[in-house]
Amino acid sequence: MNIDSIQNGVVIDHIKAGQGMKLYELLHLDDIDASVAIIKNVTSNKMGKKDIIKIDADFEPDLDIIGFVDPDATVNIIKDGVLAGKRSIEMPEILEGVLKCKNPRCITCCEQELKQIFKLTDRENKVYRCIYCETKAQY
Ligand code: ZN
Repeated sequence: MNIDSIQNGVVIDHIKAGQGMKLYELLHLDDIDASVAIIKNVTSNKMGKKDIIKIDADFEPDLDIIGFVDPDATVNIIKDGVLAGKRSIEMPEILEGVLKCKNPRCITCCEQELKQIFKLTDRENKVYRCIYCETKAQY
């Protein structure tokens, strides 16, 4: 794939340097049957360094996951080689089914049918806590 030009796909731009790989994992981009490029440590006038992810497929990324990893990232939808739309990214209040609670005594560890749910408890410091045991989300 030519990483500079995508015909139909998604470009996640302005990702804080170092977060690109985390986003790749949480979005399960290894599971999609398409070319995916992560470009790390791109020099950016605005941010110093940034990461970019390009997905060469008609793919609707989970905006909550992007908002959790980096609410300042931008998502561009490319159709027929031109910018067809942008998605606004916000830090989600609730993050469902994305992270696992790290507390070994958390009820979600034994009750497998319980959904893993984290709630944003401190927007300024980007802190998410498990709604069952209040353990801080880690990734
Ligand atoms: Zn928990």
